[in-house]
Amino acid sequence: MEVFITILEDLWEGLLAPFYYFIDPSKRLNLIYLFSSTLLAYYVYKKAKTTIPFYRYLFNKKVWLSKSAFIDYKYLFFNGIIKILLIAPIFVAWRYVGVETNDFLEETFNASSVSLSKNQVIIFYSLSLVIAYDLVFYLWHLAMHKSPFLWEFHKIHHSATSLNPITQYRLHPVELIANNAALFLVSALLKGVFDYFYQGSIELVTYAEVNIFAMLFLFWGANLRHSHVKLKYFSRLEKIFISPRQHQIHHSDNPLHFNKNMGAKLAVWDRIFGTLLRSKDAEKIKFGLGKSEVKDYNTFFKTLYIPFKNITKYIIGLFSSSKR
Ligand SMILES: [Zn+2]
Ligand SMILES: [Zn+2]
Repeated sequence: MEVFITILEDLWEGLLAPFYYFIDPSKRLNLIYLFSSTLLAYYVYKKAKTTIPFYRYLFNKKVWLSKSAFIDYKYLFFNGIIKILLIAPIFVAWRYVGVETNDFLEETFNASSVSLSKNQVIIFYSLSLVIAYDLVFYLWHLAMHKSPFLWEFHKIHHSATSLNPITQYRLHPVELIANNAALFLVSALLKGVFDYFYQGSIELVTYAEVNIFAMLFLFWGANLRHSHVKLKYFSRLEKIFISPRQHQIHHSDNPLHFNKNMGAKLAVWDRIFGTLLRSKDAEKIKFGLGKSEVKDYNTFFKTLYIPFKNITKYIIGLFSSSKR
């Protein structure tokens, strides 16, 4: 009975979690970031010289009330529950990796002769966290595009035919769990390394993994990445940072744009691996997987089970072709 009550409490907590995103400074949906995104959208609107009023441009019905958008909204709440039930335990488990890393460094190299000050730790730790997250995210994202198995799950994010800030939550639970496990692992390893060079506690100098560099990215229109607002940077800057328009190109259904712009914040990984495409190289785009696959992903339940169905088919295909 007690277990049943705990699960119910967790479910309730998971359902309410998305509402707290509006006041959480580590979340893109924080009201401050939504406000700064609105200001940037106004700049794009003014530049486009359209005749429709701004509120109609911003709250375009085709964007916010599309069938695709309603699947995103369901994912927002569904994944809130997944986070509480399945991801929180991974977070707890990975914390030990940090402790182990610190112990390993101390045993191997003895106590560190370098001791960083609190301010140095705040800057170095925050910066290396952002860069390491970004690189790991890029490599994992690349793997999801290149591996036929992982692609089946990542396809759910790409099946959105209209983009709004909630589309960032449209992730198959398998992808969500794997994303979080990879990012927790990176932060645990780094925490261990920095604990070694700092005599205080890393936890006391960072608040909920929020750091100034990540906040700047969120403030600078991160919400527009999933939107119809075509915010481009000038061409040279798009070689360093991924603009919202560059992520929109990543969602294009045109095969010429497939597997491009897989970075989150920095464009340098895309440059290194030859997957960068700048806004000027892709004018008109449509979002999604293309006409032939729209029907496969047009309900929430389909998006949940189709990856498993396709993978089963794929494996059966492999076995039957090897028998021949
Ligand atoms: Zn992708
Ligand atoms: Zn996206």
